[in-house]
Amino acid sequence: MSDRAEIAREAREVIAAARALVAEWGEEGIASFDPAAARASSETIDAAEPVETAAATAVTAEATEMAAPEAAAPARATEAPAPTQAAAAPRAGAPLSLDAVRDELGDCTRCGLHNGRQQIVFGDGNPDADILFVGEGPGQSEDEQGLPFVGRAGELLTQMIEKGMGLARSDVYICNIVKCRPPRNRTPLPDEVAACRPFLDGQIEAVSPKVIVALGKPATGLLLGRDVAITRIRGTWHDYEGIPLMPTLHPAYVLRQYTPENRRAVWEDLKAVLTRIEEGAG
Ligand code: SF4
Repeated sequence: MSDRAEIAREAREVIAAARALVAEWGEEGIASFDPAAARASSETIDAAEPVETAAATAVTAEATEMAAPEAAAPARATEAPAPTQAAAAPRAGAPLSLDAVRDELGDCTRCGLHNGRQQIVFGDGNPDADILFVGEGPGQSEDEQGLPFVGRAGELLTQMIEKGMGLARSDVYICNIVKCRPPRNRTPLPDEVAACRPFLDGQIEAVSPKVIVALGKPATGLLLGRDVAITRIRGTWHDYEGIPLMPTLHPAYVLRQYTPENRRAVWEDLKAVLTRIEEGAG
């Protein structure tokens, strides 16, 4: 790609991110923005985790979500143009396996995110899990380790699963909307989400969970096929192709807004998931 094309692409990314941010602020009724306060908040995160920019950025996104983040883009993914390269359709007889989906993904170059990744972050956990968690995309730690949710936000998610739900992390399955780290941890663009979508669909089909937990606005918006305000929709049951879906706050957002209310909200959502499982969800 020429320098000019690269600059144009980056400009489109910045504009898309800004539009998503503004749309989310509007949705949340935020009429003004204090840059000094935002910088101070960001610096606090940076000081606490100088390396984990993934969590910090995701948090910024999710934080903006109440105040705004990783938001509006996934919902817009439903409006995305078809990817330029053929997206794989991991459908091949019965029953679909995670290995088959991973094999179909291969050394994927179907969207531009492959340019900046260290490795594909496919997913992790029990291929027969009752509960499948879906996040937005890999961050720095995930890109380095090739596993989803292993940074600070991942540690919190693991605590939620193990200490909160009384399960082992290996009991559940965890994946993201996109399998490659977006530059600077920005929200994935609609064409990137569209290109990777068949593999998320394949993972859901292969695992066939009893419940899906959508972490944050992008995952929730994508799976429900519409823009959502995560702070309003969390804690309520929805349906994804016959599978009960519970939206909850992204752990990165909870880290950023580490309040008793947010922790309680997530815990209430996860308790509802456990109850649904016990009642024989599906
Ligand atoms: Fe392929 Fe998904 Fe990575 Fe894009 S994000 S290159 S579609 S694996």
